[in-house]
Amino acid sequence: MKEQDYLDHLVGVFGHPAAENPGVVIQEAAFRSLGLRNWRFLTIDVDPGKLGDAILGLKAMKFRGINCTVPHKIEAVKYVDKLSPGATLIGAVNTIVNDGSVLTGENTDGKGFMIALQSADMDPAEKNIVVLGAGGAARAICVELAMAGARHITILNIPKDQGLVEGLIQTLLRNTKVKVDYLPWVDAFKIPPDTDILVNATSIGLYPNVYDKPNIDYDSLAPSLYVQDVIPNPAFTPFLEEVDRRGLRWQSGVQMLINQAALNITMWTGLEPDKALMMKALKEALE
Ligand code: NDP
Repeated sequence: MKEQDYLDHLVGVFGHPAAENPGVVIQEAAFRSLGLRNWRFLTIDVDPGKLGDAILGLKAMKFRGINCTVPHKIEAVKYVDKLSPGATLIGAVNTIVNDGSVLTGENTDGKGFMIALQSADMDPAEKNIVVLGAGGAARAICVELAMAGARHITILNIPKDQGLVEGLIQTLLRNTKVKVDYLPWVDAFKIPPDTDILVNATSIGLYPNVYDKPNIDYDSLAPSLYVQDVIPNPAFTPFLEEVDRRGLRWQSGVQMLINQAALNITMWTGLEPDKALMMKALKEALE
C-alpha cells in the first residue's frame, strides 16, 4: 500500500458574521498553486463572547494560524501569548501564528493597505489624510500612514468609545511625527479641500449591507483627491460609485485583501504565493 499523509494543516478566519468572508477562495487557490495539498482554510463564525475559547482551541487542534476579522481584532489582543511590535502599536490582531503552542498576534492589514497605495503610485509622505472609522482596520491603517510620514490625519468616528480613539491618537503622537485630529462623526462630513487621501476604514457597505455608504458630503470631494476603500465584498461599493461618478482616482479593498492574505500565507507556510492567481480566484468567486 502506498504511504499517504492525510493530516490536515489548518488555518482559517474567525469572524461574526463570517459567511461573507472570501478569504477561503484566495487562500486555497494559493495553497493549490504552491502544491500544499493538505492545507485547509476554514471560515468559522465565532460569537463575540467566545473568542477566548476559540483561540484556545487553536492550540488543542494544532492550527498553524488564524485570521481575525470583524469584530474580533481588538479583543484578540487579550488571548495571544505574544504580540508583534506592529500589533502592539496598532492594538489589534488580524493574524495569529501558532509556533508549537505559542500564539503570536500579528497585524498585516495596514501593510496590505500600504502595498495597495504604492501600487496606485500614492506616497502618503507629507499628505493630509481623512480616515473614516476607528476600528481595527482604521487603527492599522493610521499607524502605517503615520509611520510612512503622513503630515496630518483626521479620524472620524461615531462618538461611542472615546477611550479607544484617544488611545490611538496618543499612540500616533508618541511614536510618529504626524498631526492628528479626532472629529466626532454626527452629520454628513465635508471633506476639507486640502485633503489628499480619503480612506473608508469603516465596515459600511460590507455584504450584506451593500446599499449603505458613509455619511459624508460627496459634493465636497475635490477632483485631486485619491480615495481608498477597505471593503472587499462587494468590490464596487456605493461609496466608490459616488467617487467614481465624480471622476476621482480610487481603489477598492480587494487589492488590500490580496496583499494581506499573501503576507499571512508567507507567515504560515514560509512560501510566497502568486498574487495574480489569488486575485483571479477572487474575481471569479465574486462575479
Ligand atoms: P471594526 O468593527 O473594528 O471597526 C468598524 C468601524 O466602522 C468602527 O469604527 C465603526 O464605528 C465603524 N462603523 C460601522 N458602521 C458605521 C456607521 N454606520 N457609521 C459610522 N461608522 C461606522 O472592524 P474592522 O476595522 O476590523 O473592519 C472594518 C472594515 O474593513 C470591514 O468591512 C472589513 O471587511 C474591512 N477590512 C478589509 C480588509 C482588506 O484587506 N480589504 C482588511 C481588514 C478589514 P463604531 O466603533 O462607532 O461602531
